[in-house]
Amino acid sequence: MAREFDLTSRRVPRIETQFRRIVTEFPVPESLPILQRLQTYEPVAMRGQPPVVWDHAEGFQVYDVWGNQWIDWSSGVLIANAGHGRREIKDAIVRQVSSGLLTNYCFPSEIRSLLVERMATLLPEPLKKVFLLTTGSETVECAIKLCRSHGAKVGGNTKHVIVSYDKSFHGRTLGSQQAGGIPALKDWIVNLDPGFVQVPFPDGFRTADNSFEGFERALRERNVEPRNVAGVILETYQGGSAAFAPAAYIQALRQWCTSHDALLVCDEVQAGFGRTGTLWGFEHYGVVPDLALFGKGMSSSLPISAVAGRPDVMDLHPAGSMTSTHTGNPVCCAAALASIELVVSEKLAENARQMGAVLHERLGVLQTRFPQIGHVDGKGLVAGIACVAPGTKEPDGDLAWQVIERCVESGVLMFSSVGFGGGTVKIAPPLVITLPAILESVAVLEEVFAEATSKKTGMA
Ligand code: PMP
Repeated sequence: MAREFDLTSRRVPRIETQFRRIVTEFPVPESLPILQRLQTYEPVAMRGQPPVVWDHAEGFQVYDVWGNQWIDWSSGVLIANAGHGRREIKDAIVRQVSSGLLTNYCFPSEIRSLLVERMATLLPEPLKKVFLLTTGSETVECAIKLCRSHGAKVGGNTKHVIVSYDKSFHGRTLGSQQAGGIPALKDWIVNLDPGFVQVPFPDGFRTADNSFEGFERALRERNVEPRNVAGVILETYQGGSAAFAPAAYIQALRQWCTSHDALLVCDEVQAGFGRTGTLWGFEHYGVVPDLALFGKGMSSSLPISAVAGRPDVMDLHPAGSMTSTHTGNPVCCAAALASIELVVSEKLAENARQMGAVLHERLGVLQTRFPQIGHVDGKGLVAGIACVAPGTKEPDGDLAWQVIERCVESGVLMFSSVGFGGGTVKIAPPLVITLPAILESVAVLEEVFAEATSKKTGMA
C-alpha cells in the first residue's frame, strides 16, 4: 500500500534525554523547503520515508541541523552495521581519496585485491571467489545469471527455473523483482518469465506448515520438475518480516539442491556482516550456500556489494564477460575494508547477539501486552513486529504506520517497509548500540504502542 508522510508541521511533545532530543515541531518547519524541493524534482516513489532531513549521523544516532537527535533504529536501511560516521571508515575513505585514485574500472588495484581476499578469508568453504558490484539488486541479477549458466552447463536448456519465496524482496530490477515474491510489485513487468517460481516461505506464522515437504509439494503444484531447477534463492531472513526458516528446513533444502545439481543462493544483503548475531546469517542454519550475496552493511557507508561463491560457478563466464563500471571502486573498497575490520575487531556480531537478546526479550513482553502484536520475528539486531487485527493474522498497516510515525516524532528513527510486509514494524539499529539506548528506545516503542492501540480501540 503506497503512503506518504504528512508534511504539515505540528506540535509534538518536547523530548530531551541522553540519547534523544526533539525540540521543534515535526516535520521541522525550516525543513519544508528542502522536502518540497525533493517533491518537485524527484519521483513520487521517493516519498516513502519519514520526513527527517538528516544532517549527520554518529554511531547509533542521527541528527538534523535544527537541534533534533534520534536513536537510529534504521541503520539507514540496514547499512550502518559498524555505526554511522565511524572515524576509522572516514579516515580510510580520506586516505584513499588523498592517494589520488578515485576510480579504475576493472583495471587491477591493490585495494580491490585486499577486499576480495579479506572477504574470501572470512567466508567458509566453498565461498572463495568474490565479485564486487555496487548494489544488492545487481548481486541478485548476477546470481540469476550464474544459476542459469550453471544449470545449462549441467542439465541443458531446460534446467533454467529459479525458485524463490513468497513475500521475498530481492531488489527492483527486472530479474531481481521477478525473483521477489510480492506480486503487486511485479505488475509493471506484464510478461513475467515463467522460469521464476515462488513457493511459500516456512515462517511458521504466515505459513503454518514449515516442514520441507511443503517445498516439494509446492514444486509439484506448480508443475516444476526438480531436475529443471537451476537455483533456489532465499533471503537468509525475509526482509519484510525478519522471519527465519527452521534450520531443519534449510538443511533439507541444502541437501535437495546438492542432489538435484541446483545452486543454493543466500541473499545476505540484509543479513550479512553481523546483523543477526553471527557474522553471516546462514550460520544460523548450519549450512553454506553455493552463492552468497552481500550489500547494505558491507561498508557501513558507500555503495558496494558482492557475490561470493564456489570457484567453479564464479568462473563460468570468461574474461571480460561479467563486469560492471563501478566494480570495486577504490574508495568504496577502502570503506568496506575499514567497516569489515570494525565488525570483526569490535566483535559487533557478538554485540548484536547480546543486545538482540535483550531487545527480543522485551519485544516478547510487549507481545503479551498487546493483542495487536501477532508475532515477533528476527534474531540479533533485527526484529519485525507483525501488527495484526487482534485474534487474526490479518496485517494492520495503519497501526504499523502510526507506530513508526509516533516513534520518529518521539526520537526513535525508524524506516517504513510497509510496501513489503504490510503491517511490519522493523527494528534494525547499528550494531554498536548500547544497552541503555536499547532499553530507552524499547520504552518509547512501548509507550507508542499503548497510545496507538488505545486510540484505535477508542479507549483513550
Ligand atoms: N536483497 C535484499 C534482501 C534487500 O533487502 C535489498 C534491498 N532492500 C536488495 C536485495 C536490493 O538491494 P539494492 O537496493 O541495493 O539494490
